[in-house]
Amino acid sequence: MTTDLGESWTMDSREMKNIDNKQDVKPWEQLLSMYPGLVVPIQESWKDPLSIRKIYMITPTKTRAEQIADLTRLAQTLYLIPNLFWIIVEDESQRTGRLHRLLQSFNLPFIHLNIATPDYLKPTKNQSTWRRPRGMHQKNIALQWVRENTSTNEDALVYFADDDNTYHWKLFQEIRKIQLVGVWPVGLVGELLYERPICLNGKVYSWFHYIYRKRKFPTDMAGFAIHLGLVHKHSNYLFNVSANSVGEQESNILGTMTSMNQLECLANNASKIYVWHTKTQSMFLTTTEKLRNAGMKYDLISEL
Ligand code: UDP
Ligand code: MN
Repeated sequence: MTTDLGESWTMDSREMKNIDNKQDVKPWEQLLSMYPGLVVPIQESWKDPLSIRKIYMITPTKTRAEQIADLTRLAQTLYLIPNLFWIIVEDESQRTGRLHRLLQSFNLPFIHLNIATPDYLKPTKNQSTWRRPRGMHQKNIALQWVRENTSTNEDALVYFADDDNTYHWKLFQEIRKIQLVGVWPVGLVGELLYERPICLNGKVYSWFHYIYRKRKFPTDMAGFAIHLGLVHKHSNYLFNVSANSVGEQESNILGTMTSMNQLECLANNASKIYVWHTKTQSMFLTTTEKLRNAGMKYDLISEL
């Protein structure tokens, strides 16, 4: 499933050292002198023993012209994150070679799954984003995969990470501090610069948010992660794929698996933003369409 390089990312720091000795090269030292900006974050991530707990990161991904670019950007963030297993669920009835080749090219540990969102639940082009939760079938398949492929007592974390958000490497260090469920601010969401829990001594006592005030846990999917044990404990839990009010999914999973006073407030008492709900603009490709309609052989090169 993974390449040699991919597997080396799942080892602990002691094993990393052995690899260095074995090969009689010091890749980190070499890299450090060349790219301190790249190596320091990685070293930082490995410093804390807690930081080697595994993160299962679930990413639904929809076929669109910008998909390969979005996933490339995301994958290159993941090079900074040790011991992360990426579960990518393609919104297609069959896994495409196009996406599979891209994923293999990254040399990250991953599994490529797929399930198509049924037509009647697909968001339409002009439907406002909050009308239709997206990527829900895909997240459900990933939850099933996690249940079937991890042990119930593994000390690991689960995070739902959409393919077009922006993630700082420090977010993943925060995720590894979680005992059961952690929450933190999300930037550029809810018609605000950020939404966030308001916390005192690591506990949530209120939320800063504006739209759709009825949300019980007013946070975006990017604003929390849960311990793997909860996915096993709530062994039948799946997202309601046809829910159509915003925030229902987040409130539902958090309401089922935890309670407000159990939440662990991270990112320095929710004073830091480490993830942004950025959105990739759909590109205007009208000329491409015209060429295709005119029967011109246009798709001669592929993205990889
Ligand atoms: N997605 C999907 N199928 C869809 C629409 C979206 O799998 O029909 C994925 C998409 O690639 C992304 C996630 O679901 O990873 C959330 O979608 P999007 O970013 O469009 O939603 P928003 O940013 O509006 O929450
Ligand atoms: Mn998005």
